[in-house]
Amino acid sequence: MITASQWQTIDTVLLDMDGTLLDLHFDNYFWQTHMPQVYAREQGISEQQAADRLAPVFRDQQGKLHWYSLDFWEQTTGLELLPLKREVQHLIQIRPHAIEFLQTLKRAGKRALLVTNAHQRGLDLKLQVTGIGQHLEAIFNSHQFGAAKEHADFWPRLQDAAGFDPQRSLFIDDNISVLDAAHAYGIAHVLAIAQPDSQRTRDPITEYACIEHFSEIMPQ
Ligand SMILES: [Mg+2]
Repeated sequence: MITASQWQTIDTVLLDMDGTLLDLHFDNYFWQTHMPQVYAREQGISEQQAADRLAPVFRDQQGKLHWYSLDFWEQTTGLELLPLKREVQHLIQIRPHAIEFLQTLKRAGKRALLVTNAHQRGLDLKLQVTGIGQHLEAIFNSHQFGAAKEHADFWPRLQDAAGFDPQRSLFIDDNISVLDAAHAYGIAHVLAIAQPDSQRTRDPITEYACIEHFSEIMPQ
């Protein structure tokens, strides 16, 4: 998938957080179950009514920076979302072999950069709960660049800030639209995650090479 000789041509690994380093189950559970339940209770409506009211907002915002903005969702729902996230923070889990992979990259002299659409407050909570920040050289989030990773504008801005060579980089993400944008920008190696949410299977990915776990691509 990434062969030993390919690893010799890679000096930077760009990693997504939710669904890649961390189990997407937390995010799916929070946005699809926990938050809508609390919203329904606060609004005095049924869970079905809450789901019906939120569905078009989710649909309109998908893949846009707003989708990832806690501020936007707090304005939309009238809820304070960080305390709600803390209520279910035990679901924030590191995916298998992720830490070992980051440690191996460091030993192999590769840069490991976190590249996320996560909003700063949600990002801070996940860093605090998991401690993954200590294994990363730097953390970039799309809100600082004014464009989501799905958008072509994101990538040159990231490159300016992070100073990597796309031809000598590997990018790993669970989102196909994001992988499309990275591939279009010219990131030489892109890999998808087969099962970002430990509690759910997804349709097989045909567009990109795909890993179940980081143990499949450990550099020597
Ligand atoms: Mg992701």
